[in-house]
Amino acid sequence: MEMNIYAYKCKKCGHVQYPYRTICRNCHKNEHNEFDIVPLPKSGKLLTYTNLYTLPPDFEVVTLGLGIVELEDGNKITGQLNIDKPKIGMKVKGKVEVVRRDEYNEYMGMIFYPA
Ligand SMILES: [Zn+2]
Repeated sequence: MEMNIYAYKCKKCGHVQYPYRTICRNCHKNEHNEFDIVPLPKSGKLLTYTNLYTLPPDFEVVTLGLGIVELEDGNKITGQLNIDKPKIGMKVKGKVEVVRRDEYNEYMGMIFYPA
């Protein structure tokens, strides 16, 4: 089964936002939490990125690329990059995968690949 990260679609105006906010960013009228839960798109454009070299000891990699991606619906999300030479503006495609694990838990997140 393909995994997703979910966003919140305003039942009044249809605007999709991520992450969760109690009030719709578009119509400012959603005081009653009336959102449908919809999967975020996974394709987008790399806005910016950085490489991390000093990670906590439980990471299984030595360095980590981290990027901010503007998805097809305009929402922005932070994710790991599995890309050799990232370029700002390049098209990327995400998958929801395990990004970190400890003794008892696995933590899921978006990992982006070249599109
Ligand atoms: Zn709205």
